[in-house]
Amino acid sequence: MKSGTSSAPVDVNVSHREDRASFDGAPERFTGRVHVEMLFDPSAPARATAGSVTFAPGARTAWHTHPLGQTLVITSGIGRVQFWGGPVRDVHPGDVVWIPPGVKHSHGASSTMSMTHIAISEQADGKTVTWLEQVQDEHPSQARSDLAAMNTAAPAAEASAAQKLFGDVAPGLAQLTDDVLYADVWNRPGLSKRDRSLVTVSALVAMNRPDQLRSHLALAQQNGVSQQELFEAITHLAFYAGWPSAVTAATTAKDVFARQRSTGALR
Ligand code: MN
Repeated sequence: MKSGTSSAPVDVNVSHREDRASFDGAPERFTGRVHVEMLFDPSAPARATAGSVTFAPGARTAWHTHPLGQTLVITSGIGRVQFWGGPVRDVHPGDVVWIPPGVKHSHGASSTMSMTHIAISEQADGKTVTWLEQVQDEHPSQARSDLAAMNTAAPAAEASAAQKLFGDVAPGLAQLTDDVLYADVWNRPGLSKRDRSLVTVSALVAMNRPDQLRSHLALAQQNGVSQQELFEAITHLAFYAGWPSAVTAATTAKDVFARQRSTGALR
C-alpha cells in the first residue's frame, strides 16, 4: 500500500438534496425570512460543515462570530456583509468572503434583492457559531450601540466621532480617520480584529495614552478580548512598557469596566 492512503470505501458517497435537512432561520438568529439547506456535516476527522442559505430582500443574520472563521461563497442575488463597526460591503455571485475567527459580523440580502450564499465553517469543540444580539438598525453602518455612544473611538461611532471631535478644524484628519484607519486598516484581512485590538491596546498602554486607551479597551471586548485577558496584557506590559504605564492602564481599565457595568453597555 502506498504511504498516505488508507482503507477507503470502494463506492463514492453522494448525498441527495431531498435527503438533507432544510429549515427556516430561527427568528432569534435572523431578521426577515431566511431558509437554510444543509449541504454537509463534518465527516471526522474533517471539521468543515456547510449550508446554502437564502435571505429574502432585507433579511440578515444577527451579529455573530465563528470560532474558526467562515467562508461565504455568494451564489445568487445581491448581498451585504458587515463587520462590527465597519462599512457595509455589497457582494455578488462569484464573490468569496472570508470572515476571520472571532470577528463579530452580519451577512444578508440587499434591501431590494434576495441573496443566496454557501456558508462553510469548521467546528471547534463541536461549535461553529456564537450568536450575539440582533442588528438593531436597518442601516447598521449608522447604528450606534450604547458602548459606541459612550466612547469616542469605537468604530461604529468613529466616523461621526472623528468629525465631531476635530472635523471642523482638521477635516482631512477626520476623513483619514474614518475612511482609512477604521474603514480600511481595521478591516484588512491580514490580522483578526481581536489581534488588532491587542496590538492597539499594547501600543496605547506603552505610550501611556489613557484617553485613547479607554475607547480601545471597550472595542477590544467587542472584538473578543475578555476583561481578564486585558488585565493580563497590562500585567505583561509592565515588564516591557514600564510599571507607571501599566498602573495607569490598570486604573483606566478598572474605571472603564465599572462604567460599562453601570450603563449595561456590555453584557
Ligand atoms: Mn457568519
